[in-house]
Amino acid sequence: MRIPNYIGGEEVASSATRSMPVTNPGTGEIIAELPLSPISELDAAVKVAAEAQKAWAEITVKDRVQVLFRMKTLMEAEVERLAELITVENGKTMPESRGSILRAVECLEFASSLPQIGTGAGLEVSRGVECRSHRFPLGVTVGITPFNFPLMVPLWMAPLALASGNAFILKPSEQTPLSALELAKLFDRAGLPAGLFSVLNGDREIVEAICDHPGIAAIAFVGSTPVARAVHTRGAAAGKRMRALGGAKNHLVVVPDADTEMTASNVVASVTGCAGQRCMAASVLLAVGEVDHVIDRVREKMAAVVAGGDMGPMISRAAWERVSGYIDRAEAGGATLLLDGRGQVAPDASPEGYWLGPCIIDRARPDHESACDEIFGPVLTIIRCDTLEEALAIENANPYGNAAAIYTSSGKVAQHFVDRAGAGMIGVNIGVPVPREPFAFGGWNDSRIGEGEITGMGAIEFWSRSKKVTSKWSTEHSANWMS
Ligand code: NAD
Repeated sequence: MRIPNYIGGEEVASSATRSMPVTNPGTGEIIAELPLSPISELDAAVKVAAEAQKAWAEITVKDRVQVLFRMKTLMEAEVERLAELITVENGKTMPESRGSILRAVECLEFASSLPQIGTGAGLEVSRGVECRSHRFPLGVTVGITPFNFPLMVPLWMAPLALASGNAFILKPSEQTPLSALELAKLFDRAGLPAGLFSVLNGDREIVEAICDHPGIAAIAFVGSTPVARAVHTRGAAAGKRMRALGGAKNHLVVVPDADTEMTASNVVASVTGCAGQRCMAASVLLAVGEVDHVIDRVREKMAAVVAGGDMGPMISRAAWERVSGYIDRAEAGGATLLLDGRGQVAPDASPEGYWLGPCIIDRARPDHESACDEIFGPVLTIIRCDTLEEALAIENANPYGNAAAIYTSSGKVAQHFVDRAGAGMIGVNIGVPVPREPFAFGGWNDSRIGEGEITGMGAIEFWSRSKKVTSKWSTEHSANWMS
């Protein structure tokens, strides 16, 4: 199957001369061929989107969100089919794929409430003079998304973008383009007018063209930090409104009064969920003081997680080689491998899949590559610390700032950590502290380039622009400062 783009409410075959295979990471099988669209196809998509957006901006927000209600119902009715698609192209386990769909549906629910939460403001600023603030659409907007949540991350963006009166073009990851196409078809079935949700496949060339294109008003990006930075810089230089979320290196702090069973289960779920390919995944465990009993349980529980059973594969052979490389080098450098998942695969898993079992590197130094780099796989690096202050100093020194968590039964210790951790999303006894709608998702420092939110209340600002109207209808005419 050669994957089409989706433009103007229909599948459109790409004229691309360059293409790449799309692989099922659980079997290594090539499932489709992805054309890498040339710039001329971006021009066509923007033209169609701009035309459709004019009429869309004319209807009320109450009417626009009706599409989102229908989309929610459609997605809920088809969770199994959609989950299978995500599992085939991304490798997530079926429970993980289902979970990502339900989180995506929450974004539809949130955007559906725009008529209630986006009412603007009004105030009599002088006697008889009223100032009102209204929100207006931006025009054609674009989302550029990563492989790891092929359906959810696009729905962090599209519902609010559309409810706000924009057209939306999705440039999905070239590793997981199938869910994007399915989303376009679902929006179509939900009654979204043609041209408002398009899918344009491609790689770096098309992303750079998107950044430069004069017909695009705003770009939301989610992916790795170097690409987030490059895309943000290029798009902003072309005068666009930009949001860019980047990579992560998340620290979990365990102190001696943490509940052993709950902490161990939670840490293991954070490391191994989605095979560690989540920007919220635990990556470094900062073990404060005498917590060997917790680490022993983490090891036992993690050893019971099986790649090809309750854990999915790495997304690609390249990812498998990259992540395995960290373990190979740690071993060669004499690190303590508390758990070695290399070669640990469920007996009935396809031998061609990119499987890697969970790994634990213990007693790492804070400057070891496994303690610093975003590995993006099921690898936990443990650093032993004498005090909470030492753990906080290590967490604060890392350049990322997506998530951090503490496990403790003391409210005082938790508050101390919450106040000092250098990340945008903090967990207390929760290893994947995703702030669900209406709270915005997003980190600090190298995990987010630039300011502003991509989801939640703050994102309403991003997907629209405000107009302030100052009016006076009384015929009273005495001179009045600034009116
Ligand atoms: P990626 O940066 O490789 O790709 C993301 C998007 O950018 C894709 O659409 C891709 O086609 C495009 N792209 C890749 N290289 C490019 C280049 N040189 N120039 C222009 N565009 C380019 O990311 P990925 O590997 O698909 O996803 C994993 C990364 O995403 C991890 O770093 C993860 O932490 C991050 N992520 C972050 C969040 C968050 O909310 N902060 C959420 C999910 C994933």
